[in-house]
Formats: sequence, C-alpha cells, structure tokens
Amino acid sequence: MTQSHGWAAQSATTPLSPFKFSRRELKEHDVHVDIQFCGVCHSDIHWVRNEWGGATYPVVPGHEIIGRVKAAGSAVSRFKPGDLVGVGVIVDSCRQCASCKAGEEQYCEVGATLTYGVPDRFGDLTQGGYSNNIVVDDRFVHSISSKLSPAGVAPLLCAGITTYSPLRHWKVGPNKKVGVVGLGGLGHMALKFAHSFGAHVVQFTTSESKVADAKRLGADEVVISKDAAAMKKQAASFDFILDTVSAPHDINPYLEALKRDATYAQVGLPDKPPVINMGNLLFKRRNLSGSIIGGMPETQQMLDYCAEKNIVADVEVIPIQKINEAFERVVKADVKYRFVIDMASLDRG
Ligand SMILES: [Zn+2]
Ligand SMILES: [Zn+2]
Repeated sequence: MTQSHGWAAQSATTPLSPFKFSRRELKEHDVHVDIQFCGVCHSDIHWVRNEWGGATYPVVPGHEIIGRVKAAGSAVSRFKPGDLVGVGVIVDSCRQCASCKAGEEQYCEVGATLTYGVPDRFGDLTQGGYSNNIVVDDRFVHSISSKLSPAGVAPLLCAGITTYSPLRHWKVGPNKKVGVVGLGGLGHMALKFAHSFGAHVVQFTTSESKVADAKRLGADEVVISKDAAAMKKQAASFDFILDTVSAPHDINPYLEALKRDATYAQVGLPDKPPVINMGNLLFKRRNLSGSIIGGMPETQQMLDYCAEKNIVADVEVIPIQKINEAFERVVKADVKYRFVIDMASLDRG
C-alpha cells in the first residue's frame, strides 16, 4: 500500500484534522504524485458538511491538485519522475461509453469517479488532495508547464476548466457580448478567459466594492445586478451569459438580457430550483443550459492555453493549519479569489 497523510473530516460537523490513511499500491497505469499545492473549492465545503447528501467519512477533500511525479507504473508513457502534474475533479470513468470515447469523461454515462469521497473500481474510497500524495490513473493526470506559479495553477483544475469549457463550447470570442454572473473563484476565472478570448465582457455583481477589481481582471463593463434600471439597459443584448453563482438567485433579469437564440449557462449549483418565467425563453427562443468541469483532452488544452497566455488564478496561499478558518472565509466570500494550501506545511504537524 501507499502510505498517506492529510487532513480529513470525521463527520459533517467536525472540523478537519490530521489523518493517516493508505492508498492503493501503484498499478501499471498509475502515477504516484507528491502533492505541492491544493486549491480550496466551495464544493469541498459542501461535501464535507454533507450539504449535498451521501457523504461518507472520514473524507480528505481537495480536487485542485498540483505536484511532482514520484513514480510511474510500467505502462505509463506520458509521465516520468520529477514531472510537474495536475489532478482535478475526477480520477476515473468507464472509458467505453459515448461520452468517454468523445473525451467528455465528466459526462460518463456509468458515472465518473470523483477525486474524493466515493468508491473506486478497486473498492477503495477515494481521498483527495489535502494530503501529501495521490495515486491516479495516468488518463486523469495532466501535464503542467513550469512557466506558471504552481499555486496559481492549482485552481485551474476545477475553477479554470469549469469556466473555460462552456466559454469554448458556446464559442465565446471577438464580436461577442458575454456576461459573467458572480465574481468569486469561478467568476474571476470566467472573466479572465472571456477577456482573453477577445469577447466584450460584462461582469454582473451585487457588490459595488467589486467594480474596480472586475475591471482589473478584464471586464469591459460592470453592472450592479440589484440596479433594475441598469439591468433593463442590457435587455436583449448578450450572445452568451455564464452564471457562476451557487446561492439561489433570480435568473429572469439575466434571461431578459439575452439576444434571440442566445444561451444562459449555469455552472454554480444552487440547492433550490430556480423559478423561471417561461416567457423569457419562448419569446426570443432563448436557451437555458448548464455545464460541469471538462473532459481530459480539454483540460489539458486549457492548461496549455494558460501557459501560453500566462493565465493563473488569483490566490491566497495558506498552511493546512489554517484550513478550518479558510472554510469559514470561503462561506462568507471573503477571499480573492481562491485559497490554495501549501502542502509543505503538512509536516509541521
Ligand atoms: Zn471544485
Ligand atoms: Zn463512460
């Protein structure tokens, strides 16, 4: 077995604390990664607090993982010891279904294996990246350019691909007016990507205090979404809007802002269904859709694009000992824009 240590939740109501566990022995297609950094995603908090139901304990969260290959199995050709690599939200899928064959493993029809908290094909419970190492099948490992700060790259593995994939799918680019709803971990990446793809980008936010930052991150315009008159001015003008907000909110004013045939895509996952005025869809044949992370080929493409364009997340690096405090701050949206844990701190106890 591979010996591991990290920080785990022992129940939905206990703080994270140090935890020793084992991972599977390196198999022929596996890569053993010594973890350097792991991002703190809002999903980690939903999961460990069992806010989505079905959580099992103990669970080591973390699915924005950057580290170096320590060892690779005999059938692994893409990686060798010393390589800088990343692991994201999923670590396995069936590989046989239409989605897997299309490189869209996140939509695996059998169900992709999440990086933590679920049984894998070997009967072990997966454990995530708030730990010193991870053993992952090489299909689910990405190569990382050493040109970028590894701490800033970590959030690309979830927040990055979650926003990059829909912006590419709906062909955001020059001569397109694009809206981003919410300026948090996901929203700030959406803004950077949409700006970099050459679109005219409008940031929607509830908070006056975020206007200057949105402009710094690439917004051409910022609209305060509580201002009904400002929202009305945007009516029927957008080619695409990406909604990154996971708290329940009224999406009707945003639907009204879409042009005929344009799409509203949701990447946040509110725990209550929205109320939709169907007239907002019918009268301009608008589309309401959603998207989740991205497939393995597209994740690599996104990482390569970020290396070429020098795009990383804005992060606050913390030691693991500050993780429970960081969770509280994420819940209050008090972070610009992602916490990333420096795993060198694990050995400090
Ligand atoms: Zn995530
Ligand atoms: Zn599949």
